[in-house]
Amino acid sequence: MNQTTTTAPASLQGLVAVVTGGAKGIGFGIARELAEAGCRIALWDFDEAALREAEETLSSEGVDVKTFKVDVSAVEEVEAAVARLLASHARIDILVNNAGIGGDRLVSKMDLAFWRRVIEVNLDSQFICAKAVLPQMAENRFGRIINIGSRAWLGNRGQAAYAASKGAVVSLTRSLALEYARKGITVNAIAPGIVETPLFETLTDEVRQNLHKTVPMERIGQPQDIGRAVRFFAEPGSSYVTGQLLYVCGGRSLGGPSV
Ligand code: NAD
Repeated sequence: MNQTTTTAPASLQGLVAVVTGGAKGIGFGIARELAEAGCRIALWDFDEAALREAEETLSSEGVDVKTFKVDVSAVEEVEAAVARLLASHARIDILVNNAGIGGDRLVSKMDLAFWRRVIEVNLDSQFICAKAVLPQMAENRFGRIINIGSRAWLGNRGQAAYAASKGAVVSLTRSLALEYARKGITVNAIAPGIVETPLFETLTDEVRQNLHKTVPMERIGQPQDIGRAVRFFAEPGSSYVTGQLLYVCGGRSLGGPSV
């Protein structure tokens, strides 16, 4: 029998985790959760001010954190960040492809440039970052890639580009999982529902209340909820789980009367 042998670490302690779009929102919550599990953290984000703030906060909590100003949709910038991280940490064990932008616009009002930017940031970036870290993961015969999708991939009025980008994230995840299944690398995806991030706080009370009612659990998710799911996929012990999509949405993917 052709059995793949891996040199998987025993725990998350000391592993190096990259979180894209990690300077705020869900990404920051994911970074904090992985740090709590003992990971060393690298935040890749293009918002320099938010990166500084995130670094200060995590450092004050005793986290080993490095920040990189990177546009994750730009190949050269991502490759440079990988080279710098490998120079200082010698390994990259976990990649969380979290950076993303919204894209609320009806198709009738959407031009090709708008469509392309959403696809570029939400989808191309996941391909670019995965491709940049995979050779080193394959060499180590260990790696975890976790792609952040969205419940919206099921289809949302006024979000065609966003939903399409997140649908493609699911296909990318499944295909990568198959390509790397024999190399000790798992690739999984998470589909968050509505999560409380800086964007959510800008909504009016009325809109927030209405959104609340669309969640069967009648609560809005927290970045930590997504972080916990990421932690599960990242664990070395989750080695037999690959190519999967996990909804973290308070039951909102189930349909039913309250949706
Ligand atoms: P956010 O806007 O609060 O944070 C996104 C982060 O990504 C920011 O720090 C931003 O600077 C960074 N970023 C964006 N484009 C980038 C680029 N090209 N290069 C580098 N950094 C970039 O958003 P969020 O709500 O935390 O969303 C995070 C992820 O979760 C996204 O992929 C989003 O689609 C997904 N998601 C969010 C929700 C939600 O309700 N908030 C629901 C489902 C899915």
